[in-house]
Amino acid sequence: MEKTKYIFVTGGVTSSLGKGIISASLAKLLQARGYTVTIQKLDPYINVDPGTLNPYEHGECYVTNDGAETDLDLGHYERFLNVPTSQANNVTTGKIYQHVIEQERQGAFLGKTVQVIPHITDEIKRRIKLLGETGEFQIIITEVGGTVGDIESLPYIEAIRQMRWELGTDDTVSIHLTLVPYLKAAGELKTKPTQHSVKMLLESGVQPDILVCRTEHSLGDDLRKKIALFCNINRNAVVESIDMETIYDVPLKMLREKLDRLCLTKLHLPLKNEPDLEIWKEFLFKHKNPKQEVRIGLVGKYVELPDAYKSIIESFIHAGADRETKVKLQYIHSETITADNVALKLDNLDGVLVAPGFGDRGIEGKIEAIKYVRENNIPFFGICLGMQCAVIEFARNVLGMKGAHSSEMNSRTKYPVIDLMDSQKKITKKGGTMRLGAYACDLTKGSKAAAAYGKLHISERHRHRYEFNNKYTEEYINAGMNFTGINPESGLVEIVEIPKHPFFVGVQFHPELKSTVENPHPIFIKFVKAAVDYRQKLN
Ligand code: GLN
Repeated sequence: MEKTKYIFVTGGVTSSLGKGIISASLAKLLQARGYTVTIQKLDPYINVDPGTLNPYEHGECYVTNDGAETDLDLGHYERFLNVPTSQANNVTTGKIYQHVIEQERQGAFLGKTVQVIPHITDEIKRRIKLLGETGEFQIIITEVGGTVGDIESLPYIEAIRQMRWELGTDDTVSIHLTLVPYLKAAGELKTKPTQHSVKMLLESGVQPDILVCRTEHSLGDDLRKKIALFCNINRNAVVESIDMETIYDVPLKMLREKLDRLCLTKLHLPLKNEPDLEIWKEFLFKHKNPKQEVRIGLVGKYVELPDAYKSIIESFIHAGADRETKVKLQYIHSETITADNVALKLDNLDGVLVAPGFGDRGIEGKIEAIKYVRENNIPFFGICLGMQCAVIEFARNVLGMKGAHSSEMNSRTKYPVIDLMDSQKKITKKGGTMRLGAYACDLTKGSKAAAAYGKLHISERHRHRYEFNNKYTEEYINAGMNFTGINPESGLVEIVEIPKHPFFVGVQFHPELKSTVENPHPIFIKFVKAAVDYRQKLN
């Protein structure tokens, strides 16, 4: 078997420089040259996974097919590469320590003092190599979260140093992403923070091979030379990452900067063909040259932090490009919607998406919004809690079940139309205990869902504890709400539709987690199309 090669990506100066996008862009270029690549994120926090984190803290929690609750960067990796990630692609300090402590309790280190070096660093290295050992990938890109110099990151940097020493520099590349700030008063770009950041990395024994410099202005030759000299790297290995119009421009920018060539040369791998990015470019063209526009309301309770809905927002970009339509998302805080103002709040919209969520904050606003769009034939798409709210609204306002609710919000409701799954009833621990990951779903012939997917058997990813209460199935069907997606093993309802409505679809799963540039999600596409049709009818 050929040797797996490793690319390490660290960040300096500040967080939020876009390491995830740079890693995903590099991976895309290598993939487009014919290499098999995956990306792994190492997160230096102590939570075992981000599943227990409030979206305000951490943005969306992304879920893989095999049910890992992960960092949202994994969403970028999948959207760029169009290849699923797995449990092994996201490792946290919590996971590392949990494993080492479990081993200690089992006596695996009997007699030895268990320490950060070597035990924690060994476990980090083992997790990095795990992906390589699957034999599925020629190149693994490992991105270390946080910023060099953080106390939490130290064991990760040390693990990288050791891996580079063990594998030799021909099989590894170290990329460091930094910021080159522009000082308006001086009218100058400043390289000092980059120099300091590299120094910090050097203190830990890691010499970067490539510097990716995030900047608002072009670097120019002199500055590149200066950075190269002071950071001890090759002149052509200073890569400019200037702000782009969209994140989907970054792979093409990195191609122009030759980031993929630099890595392959360093790894002694052939360049193979020039990257085939035809589909990508076509997507970008359509994204940037829309023929029409629609306004879609995103009703949720985390709208102050759009990262909480990252995958939904990106799915609209993919579906919008497919339909050559600019989707203007309007964020609407569900807590602000009442029966009195709902018409005003949703005025001018061509479609409404009610977002996933937990707990009862803002729930009544979501239900009001759904009542309004159902009664006014405005296209509606409900995801997870959004679908559950559609079921509750229908019970209250169509079936006459006063006070109907989800038992998540009201455990004593007379009509628990959304109820805890049997498998969830005895669970008390919070982390990793929801219905997580990919499940099969059978679609009803002739439904909107079946038309969208163009097939009758699908698989989608889940993250929830509650479900439609099958006790009420008949009442719903008799009153005009159909269950058009069912899990074949458990009989759980996965999709609800109102066939009489132009577009009223609620899904218990998270379709947004599977939308990619090359494979925009079919329900998002149909929803955008319904919004276009709605708008055209109005005009
Ligand atoms: N809170 C709901 C549940 O647990 C919905 C979850 C979600 O929207 N992801 O079932």
